[in-house]
Amino acid sequence: MENNLTIYNTLSRKKEKFEPINPPFVGMYVCGPTVYGDSHLGHARPAITFDLLFRYLKYTGYKVRYVRNITDVGHLVNDADAGEDKIAKKAKLDQVEPMEIVQKYTNSYHKNMEQLNTLPPSIEPHASGHIIEQAEMVEEIIKNGFAYEVNGSVYFDVAKYSETNNYGKLSGRVLEDLQNNTRELAGQSDKKNSFDFALWKKAEPEHIMRWPSKWSDGFPGWHLECSVMSTKYLGDKFDIHGGGLDLQFPHHECEIAQSKAAKGEDAVKYWMHNNLITIDGQKMSKSLGNFITLDEMFSGENKLLEQAYSPMIVRFFILQAHYRSTLDFSNKALQASEKGYKRLMTAIKTLNNLKASNESSIEVRGLKEKFFNALNDDLNTPILIAHLFDGVKMINLINSGDETISKDDLAFMQKLYNDVVFEILGLKDEEGAGNNDEKLSEVIELLLKLRAEAKKNKDFATSDKIRDELKEFFF
Ligand code: ZN
Repeated sequence: MENNLTIYNTLSRKKEKFEPINPPFVGMYVCGPTVYGDSHLGHARPAITFDLLFRYLKYTGYKVRYVRNITDVGHLVNDADAGEDKIAKKAKLDQVEPMEIVQKYTNSYHKNMEQLNTLPPSIEPHASGHIIEQAEMVEEIIKNGFAYEVNGSVYFDVAKYSETNNYGKLSGRVLEDLQNNTRELAGQSDKKNSFDFALWKKAEPEHIMRWPSKWSDGFPGWHLECSVMSTKYLGDKFDIHGGGLDLQFPHHECEIAQSKAAKGEDAVKYWMHNNLITIDGQKMSKSLGNFITLDEMFSGENKLLEQAYSPMIVRFFILQAHYRSTLDFSNKALQASEKGYKRLMTAIKTLNNLKASNESSIEVRGLKEKFFNALNDDLNTPILIAHLFDGVKMINLINSGDETISKDDLAFMQKLYNDVVFEILGLKDEEGAGNNDEKLSEVIELLLKLRAEAKKNKDFATSDKIRDELKEFFF
């Protein structure tokens, strides 16, 4: 098993060679959605980023256990320790059971993820299914002296933890700054310090999602589920923890602190974060009115959209940017992706139908190293895609008869493109795109036949004209 993968570790802030703790096994945990609304572009990016990594690790020969959670309890409206539970709030609004909200939006998330051709994770645990384990971890943290109970709630003691650990090492936040930045007034909260965070919250009388515990009828803090479910299914020390950049602080910083406080050791070897999607340069949010759900993307039914964009166009669009760069959505950018995606699919069809000659007039074997070097360089998909199009030029030159390819080289090239484009990048040929492309292929075939005839009749002007016009179109 050859592995030259390097990945950027957010914790060390540099690219590191990927060396799993216990090869050939790889444990990978990714923070999944809080299921209280339709999935949107912001859900698509982490799902596709870590699907690519999952696919590539498996392709390389690793046995990967990919755990992605469903948050169905404890995530409060303001992302911290105050406000209503996001799911309970939506349930109240729709006058249904909280678990109906959870089921509805879990189903629609799964549907959208399947449309985007992301592979399902190996395990998909729900926070509400792990209340006992979460209470156990709270007890461990209290026992180790890093948490305290006040009025039925339990808080993580960040100041105490910081005496012997570096709280802020992932996000680069400094404790003094966190203290100064707080606007909470003394006496408004049970917390010793405003930067402490809840491990267990006592439920207010109107709070519906509650469980009994030794401290109170209540519910776990949002960060706790990921510390608990990652280590439950991947062991106290595992390889990769991923998620969106928006989760780096406080969610992941708190996860690191909880796991260390409970187990005495850091749980994660490589932290990976995908950057965010902006819309015409702005952060996507409901309040800004620039919020686009995936269903709307696929149907085109949103006033911001000039047309519908199929799941594979969205996937290709996301892969065209490196996962650590911001990605700006615009109709123009999506339309360019649509063209690129279709060009690639047409080229692969052409490739699969090419006729071999006795020998190759061009060198194609070098493409493989270029493709995999790009992937191994922290999953550099934009560079990979640029190299894919270098190969597309070759495919079209062979198809037009300007170059030749041997039988062995052709088989090599066909396997390479099918492996990289479909198996690793996870693209697929969508029927709609396929139908148009088939017609297009037939037209091209016809033009090439006319060109061959013109050449045979020594009508070089016509033959060159056809070649040049085709080049305009495809290169
Ligand atoms: Zn999480």
